[in-house]
Amino acid sequence: MINNNSSRFQGSLANPDEFTLTVELVPSRGGRSTAHSRALAFAQDAGADGRLQAVSITENAGGHPALSPEVMGLEISKLGLDVIIHLSCKDKNRNQIESLLFAWDRAGLRNLLVIAGDYPQRGYRGHPKPVFDLDTIQALDLVSRLNCEHAGSDRRNPAIKKSVEPTSFCKGVAISPFKYLEAELRMQYYKLHRKETAGADYVITQVGYDARKFDELLRYMRLSGIKLPVLGNVFIPTPTVAKIMCEGRIPGVVLPDRYYAKLQEEFKDADRGRKKGLLRAAKLICVQKGLGYAGAHLGGPGLTFAELDFLLNEADRMVDDWPDFLQDFSCWPQDSYYFQPGSNGELNSDEPVPRQKGGQSLHYALAKSFHELAFVETGVLYPAAHRLCVALDEGKGQKAFAGAEHLVKLMLFGCKNCGDCTLAELGFLCPQRGCAKYLLNGPCGGSRDGWCEVYPGQKKCLYVQVYERLKAVAQDGSMKSGGVPPRDWALNESSSWINFFLQRDHTNLLK
Ligand code: SF4
Repeated sequence: MINNNSSRFQGSLANPDEFTLTVELVPSRGGRSTAHSRALAFAQDAGADGRLQAVSITENAGGHPALSPEVMGLEISKLGLDVIIHLSCKDKNRNQIESLLFAWDRAGLRNLLVIAGDYPQRGYRGHPKPVFDLDTIQALDLVSRLNCEHAGSDRRNPAIKKSVEPTSFCKGVAISPFKYLEAELRMQYYKLHRKETAGADYVITQVGYDARKFDELLRYMRLSGIKLPVLGNVFIPTPTVAKIMCEGRIPGVVLPDRYYAKLQEEFKDADRGRKKGLLRAAKLICVQKGLGYAGAHLGGPGLTFAELDFLLNEADRMVDDWPDFLQDFSCWPQDSYYFQPGSNGELNSDEPVPRQKGGQSLHYALAKSFHELAFVETGVLYPAAHRLCVALDEGKGQKAFAGAEHLVKLMLFGCKNCGDCTLAELGFLCPQRGCAKYLLNGPCGGSRDGWCEVYPGQKKCLYVQVYERLKAVAQDGSMKSGGVPPRDWALNESSSWINFFLQRDHTNLLK
């Protein structure tokens, strides 16, 4: 919900003639650090300067506990600058998210960036429980429901409807066009459709340095009819951070060797490449402006206000020269784009690259056939299966049946016995087992070279596998539409087959 009267940031997003500028701040560990004081001083200078429309504040960045974003957000909003609070799904369940949303609404913190979040890292006396009770699509849907007149309306929880005044959150989402593999890239774009349907108001890209990729995203959105303003990421790395990025140690961030080699040359300067890095950032802003981005989202460790001032002045000075800078941002492997190369000065054409061929999985084919026989109303086994499950629900054999069902599904799918089965929606692959974040509606942004962010080199990202399976039967487009509601924990360790026929599981919410 973009409301151009309610905040400078939202007003800027709603105005196609304005180029929105935001900066990302990362709260420190502890609220009394010099880093926190530096962030506030930066915000104070930026607020007085007036060129930034907002600062965004990360939540437990990198999966490490840090000062809550709303604390920093409230301090900064008092300085006259709009804030965007990152709402991540990693550390809290749906009720805690709702509670936080009430608090942020009350406090006037109404600009959000809704993300899955980095996988939690080791904390107090061990590794914390990775929560991910909701995924991004479900969290967006929750916020959208709170925003609308029938806030929180839910057949399973009608009480919420009566007690909630509508909120007015503006909801941003993230996307990464910076993926190497067809499966990862397409699934990012497919998920963007679901994000739009679930109520996204604006988009921020992942960190990346390739102009053709930046063009690709806008082109894909235009051709798909997704009309959301997009802010391009402009990240200024230090030598240490650039090295970590290149090594793939920041989830979802890809810094190609070719680009890193250029940066390494610059890092040899007396100022460790800082001035050249700022000029490069200014040029990237010019390119994004030239390509039609709605704004730029800046970030980088230790960015001072003086540096921001310098790079924004340089960007203003050079803005008309943006076509000359395109060659500075050309580092992506040629076979990793969505569209074919353009002609006559266009970076891309409107023609997608032909897709790689893939074979059908026997496991998928057999599971789908059985599903269609027993769980689709026209299937020959459906009436008998329905009758059996209704009878079992009313009788005594339910426990034994649930145990047998779990055993079969454990052997065939690695079933985790959640009782709310989503195999049919996800190529007969189980997200409770195969996705470290239990996501039901598409991938997070963290995969790299097809590997899961949490298990690089060990486990393939579940959604790369889902894509390959669905693509082989021309069903991958199903990942753009609809959406899977959150798992109902009341069904845990019960029979998902009985729950399906008794209309207790998520499929009932889709009707
Ligand atoms: S399996 Fe894929 S979507 Fe799930 S956490 Fe790993 S990288 Fe993210």
